[in-house]
Amino acid sequence: MSAARIRPLPAEVVERIAAGEVIERPASVVRELLDNALDAGATSVRVELRDGGCRLIRVADDGAGIPPDELVLACQPHTTSKIATLGDLAAVPTLGFRGEALASIAAVAALELSSATSDDGLAHTITLLPGKPPSRSVAARSRGTTATVRDLFQAVPARRALLRGPRAEAHRALGVVRAYALARPDVRFTLVLDGRLALQTPGGILEEGIAAIYGADLGRTALPLGPLAVGSATLSGIVGPRGITFTTREHVVLAVNGRVVANHALLAAAAAGYGPLLRKGRHPLLVAALTLSPAAVDANVHPAKAQVLLRDEPEIARLLREAVHAALGRAAESVAAHSSPPTAAHFTRPLQLALPAPRTRRGLRLGEQRHRYHANPLPLAEPLPAGPLSLQALCQFDDALILARTPAGDLYLVDQHRAHERLLYERLAAQREGVHRMPLHGGSAETPGQYLLDPVLVELTPRQAAILTPRLEELASLGIDCQPFGGSVFLVRALPAFVTAGSAELPHDLAGALAREAAEDADDWLEHVRIALACRTAIKRGQTLSLTEQRALLSDLCAAAVPAVCPHGSPILLRYSREYLIHAFDW
Ligand code: ADP
Ligand code: MG
Repeated sequence: MSAARIRPLPAEVVERIAAGEVIERPASVVRELLDNALDAGATSVRVELRDGGCRLIRVADDGAGIPPDELVLACQPHTTSKIATLGDLAAVPTLGFRGEALASIAAVAALELSSATSDDGLAHTITLLPGKPPSRSVAARSRGTTATVRDLFQAVPARRALLRGPRAEAHRALGVVRAYALARPDVRFTLVLDGRLALQTPGGILEEGIAAIYGADLGRTALPLGPLAVGSATLSGIVGPRGITFTTREHVVLAVNGRVVANHALLAAAAAGYGPLLRKGRHPLLVAALTLSPAAVDANVHPAKAQVLLRDEPEIARLLREAVHAALGRAAESVAAHSSPPTAAHFTRPLQLALPAPRTRRGLRLGEQRHRYHANPLPLAEPLPAGPLSLQALCQFDDALILARTPAGDLYLVDQHRAHERLLYERLAAQREGVHRMPLHGGSAETPGQYLLDPVLVELTPRQAAILTPRLEELASLGIDCQPFGGSVFLVRALPAFVTAGSAELPHDLAGALAREAAEDADDWLEHVRIALACRTAIKRGQTLSLTEQRALLSDLCAAAVPAVCPHGSPILLRYSREYLIHAFDW
């Protein structure tokens, strides 16, 4: 130990250290800025990220705004409008209260804060660059605040080095926005990643939020949780259908008074509510929103406020466990009554369209068709017709969708990624049964492994290695040649031929991901390998397709066993029937 003397740290070092506790990565910036927007009473929040937030994070809200003379103050350490006295700390009604977030962000990035407190059209802006005095300007803006954070951690290389690359950081930020959108379905959330819309919720009831995020089918089949009350606490939310589980817990959202928290006891209680329905290592889709008196919650236990202490935790945990259990029990009963198991097939149809309700025009003579619609307001669901699909590709939209028509003149929107994913998946599944279904777009009917120019070394944990070893032969049936390479290292020598022919993902990343998926402690691991393989190698959104490619993809899709739903259970097709268009446009 050195014999250095004890001395107080300079203010900028103190700030940097404090910032380190709150701002760990782009997702933490997003979290803090969302808290501020919601505390300001926003009804609509737009989040934009570039390069996973490393280059730019922008959060714009329509909340109360910050008065021009408080802009600089808001960015100083320990300045807040939310609490004033020690007594206030005992019952914090807002998400923020420490007055640290903006100061912490300004300590590690360039921060621009632009805000208007009324709709007179004028916003005041301050720009803070680390170590420089703030500069001011004015701009046009309706009421609300926009915080723009640029070049996060540029002056903190050690932190920057810990970031995981734009894609992974964007994924984390997406997780944060998704969780907030589920915790506060009443607020409209928009997330734009590198100029592309990644998520948007309508701002309404939770089922609508679920539908916007996970697809209309899940919005419809999710089971209501509660609402229940115990004492002054209330619990509400939704439980995803049993068949839908994930390998990570990112789709389990616990909200306490609108704050997304990771409370271990409550998470354990929720999982316990599933009992044996939830296999080891799998996590459900669950949104549980608790409303408690602010005095019953201590949010002041974690710098990023992700943990909270609850006064009646055991009681609330029990409530949650029983509510989840009851919701699943009810579902099991209704399934038995309708004798249709909630499996993947459950999600094939009908699909829903979340379109705005039609306007009714007064004084218009209504044709028979319209009359039918007006008598029964336009259904939000446009079921897919039974029977074989026939789709003719018209063009590609935004490099993400294929617009298509049917011989009957219905308009379909086809998600290119999910469509291809579905085809690859069915092909992989058919292989196991020894069936050769259809020739696939861009590949032959056989799926033999294709040897890689550079075999990939994958290092697993000893436990994963022990699980994987007896599965290697089955893995080879998918065209994945994976061999032990000593210890818990494996050598992936071949991947299915369609992978190596033009997939966007690097064989290195793919091989690692597949080996890890195959080493999962789950009975249906092979299914997960198939899904992962299909998902990661399918045509991406953002990929331009020629008309010939679009046609080939659609004709393969029309021959698929389940053309409407991707292997993850999300919709592939949206249908706008001829009738619907006639009605919606008042033709
Ligand atoms: P805290 O949220 O803990 O108070 P912050 O550093 O996040 O601390 O914000 C400081 C203050 O700036 C807040 O108390 C609030 O008054 C104001 N503020 C920050 N963001 C916004 C926003 N989006 N809309 C309105 N006021 C805001
Ligand atoms: Mg805050």
